[in-house]
This record gives sequence, C-alpha cells and structure tokens, in this order.
Amino acid sequence: MSDTTSQWTTSAEAVARDVLSRYAADVDRQARWPAESLEALKAGGFFGLTVPTTHGGAGAGPRTFADVLSKLAEGCASTAMIYLMHVCGTQVIVAATGFGRRDQLLRDIAAGRHLSTLAFSEKGSRSHFWAPVSQATADGDVYHITAEKSWVTSAGRANGYIVSTRSAGTTEPTTSTLYYVPEGTTGLSVAGSWAGLGLRGNASAPMRLKDVDVPASDRVSGEGGGFDTMINVILPWFQLGSAAVAVGIARASVAGVREHLLGAKFEHLGQTLAALPNLRAELALMQITTDAQAAFLHQVAWKMENPQPDTMLAVLGSKAAATEAALQVTDLAMRVCGGTAFSGQFGVERNFRDARAGSVMAPTTDVLYDFVGKAVLGMPLF
Ligand SMILES: Cc1cc2nc3c(=O)[nH]c(=O)nc-3n(C[C@H](O)[C@H](O)[C@H](O)COP(=O)(O)OP(=O)(O)OC[C@H]3O[C@@H](n4cnc5c(N)ncnc54)[C@H](O)[C@@H]3O)c2cc1C
Repeated sequence: MSDTTSQWTTSAEAVARDVLSRYAADVDRQARWPAESLEALKAGGFFGLTVPTTHGGAGAGPRTFADVLSKLAEGCASTAMIYLMHVCGTQVIVAATGFGRRDQLLRDIAAGRHLSTLAFSEKGSRSHFWAPVSQATADGDVYHITAEKSWVTSAGRANGYIVSTRSAGTTEPTTSTLYYVPEGTTGLSVAGSWAGLGLRGNASAPMRLKDVDVPASDRVSGEGGGFDTMINVILPWFQLGSAAVAVGIARASVAGVREHLLGAKFEHLGQTLAALPNLRAELALMQITTDAQAAFLHQVAWKMENPQPDTMLAVLGSKAAATEAALQVTDLAMRVCGGTAFSGQFGVERNFRDARAGSVMAPTTDVLYDFVGKAVLGMPLF
C-alpha cells in the first residue's frame, strides 16, 4: 500500500468509525438521507478523491478508492452506495473532455460542492441499463428527453445527474448517448419514494424526465457513444466499488458476530456463545470468505491500474464474487446471532438487508455470470 493510499484509508476508517457508524442505525430506521455522514465526507475531501489533481482533486486510482469505499461501507452501507454512485458520475465527467462545463464541475466536485449520480435504469428495460427504451430527439443544438428512470440513487439530492437515452434517430437498442442534467432543470422530477429492504438511506427513488431540454454542450459521451462510456469508463469503477461495498458490509458483519459471541452468555452454564464450536466454525467461514474477497478486490484494483489481458474478466467477476459472498456471510451472521439478530435490534440484521442490494443492482449477478461465462469461452458479451 502506498503512503497516499494508506493516508486515505486511515482517514476513511476514522470517518466511518466516528461519524458514519454513529448515524447508520438511525438512517436505516427512518430511511432518511445520511446528511451528517455526507457532510463528513465533503469536509474530509472524499468527494474529489478521484478528480485529477489539476482540478483540485486527490487524483487517486482504483486501489485507494476500493480501500476507502470498503471502510466507509463498514460504517454505513447507504452512505457508501451514495458515494459509489457519485464517483461513477464523476468518472464520466473526468472522461468527457468535450463537455463544456467539465472543468468547473470537476473543481466543484473536488471542493465538495457537487454530488453526482447515474440515472440509467428504466422502467422499460429494467436491469438492462445498456439498452434504454427512452429516446432523445434532436432539434438543432438541443436534445428533448422524456424518460422514466426506475431507480436513481440520491434522487432529488444530487446536484447533477448523468442520464442515458437511446440516441436520437437510431433504431439500434444499444446505441445510446449520455447527458449531464443539473438539479432544478425544468421537467426533471422525483417520481416516487424510497423505502427499500436495505440501503434505506440512499434515496434510490424513480425519476421522471418530461420534455427536458438538454443543450448539445451538455452531452457527456460522444453522440451514440453512451454504450462505450458505460462499459469502458463506468463499469470498471462500479464493479470495483460494488465489490468494495460488499467487502465492507461483510467485515461489519464479522465484527458484529465476534462481539456477540464474546458478549452473550449462557448464565446457567457460565459460558459465552464463543464456547460453542459450531458458532466458532461459522465465524471462521465468515472471516475466510471475507478475507478471500478482500484479496480479490485488491487484485482487481491493481489490474485496473496495471491493465492486463484478463483485467475485464476480473472486473466482471469482482462484483458477482463479492456481492454473493456478502450474502453468504451476512446470512451466516443471522444464523449465528439467533433471535437477537432476528429481533432487528442488532447491526448484523441491517448488514443482511443492505447486502441484498448488490446482487440485484445492474449488472446483476445472473447477468455477470453470463458475461463471465461468455468471456471465458471467447464469445461476445452482447
Ligand atoms: C438500492 C438500489 C440502488 C439503485 N441505484 C441505481 C442508480 O443509482 N442508477 C440506476 O440507473 N439504477 C439503479 N438501481 C437499479 C438497478 O441497477 C437495477 O436496474 C434494478 O435493481 C433492476 O431491478 P428489476 O426488478 O428491474 O430487475 P429485472 O431486470 O426485472 O431482473 C429480475 C431478475 O432477472 C434476472 N435477469 C435479468 N436479465 C437477465 C439475463 N439476461 N440473464 C439472466 N438473468 C437475468 C436478474 O438477475 C434478476 O434476478 C438501483 C437498484 C437498487 C436496488
């Protein structure tokens, strides 16, 4: 680990311990926006972690990002997911060299003045975000967009949205274009509420764009280049970040179980739950599974920084592997902690619910298994 990475990791650990974990249970209970935690991330400079130093950011790469994000997820998975979507949106802006507002927005992000997110999933194409059914029309230098976005993390909270549509004039389902749509744009609205099973703080509500006008200068991919940006710019960060969130949730679960086994007593036997070999074995399985995913996470982040022929294969596998492992680990935690966990009075139950989101967020585990299988066989993914 480089000095810079370890400094950011140490800061993330501190903010997760001192702020995120303090509010996580309340955020979950009330399904409320984690305002205190996001303020702490802004104050700590985390919003600009991956923004180039030329624009006031820290210029950090995938390894630092993965370490930071897994620490944040240990404290509050809702906050971590908001942050992950922000970094994905930020990376689109970093890559959008022809985008007129790029320099100012990157400076705003680095200064903690701008929260970004992705508005890709649609009611019509569901988890197949690469094939939006909404279609822009072009009128001179202006695009007109009407779309039903089914889930947008930070809906109504973000300062800007990266929005996808099928490109104007095309009949190809995967020919898409991405646009920057700032908060307050006429025709952009939150179209529902959010009360998910887990990640209850992240405001992942549906949003509607009705006759929204977007100037051509606010396009953040090439015309028809949305798919390329989704796959080559966003997907690696999203996959790695989702895996990091899963590792953080799994670590929190291991810590919660450890505490419970050492603290809960059979008074009539004069021993704690830690005296039971089956519970120790289950804790061991949780620890080993989590450690294995943490190691894979580091390897994938390293491959992103040092591209190899199999980097994309590892990127595709990372989210599936870690999110499924988190399901296993948090399920074990529920079993080991018995009725105490079931009562919902205990953090491992929140970890269990939070962990479920990762495998259904697109690309879902099912789709990733299909992609990885095809990649191993040398078949085209789409
Ligand atoms: C907490 C949360 C936050 C989110 N945040 C955002 C966001 O910020 N931005 C955004 O754009 N979207 C977001 N989403 C949406 C997400 O990425 C998915 O689009 C959404 O979860 C898909 O749900 P669905 O019911 O439409 O799935 P469906 O597409 O209906 O899938 C149902 C089932 O079919 C399986 N399936 C689908 N296609 C295939 C296939 N080809 N092969 C095999 N199995 C398949 C899936 O794995 C799943 O098990 C979020 C979702 C959640 C839960």
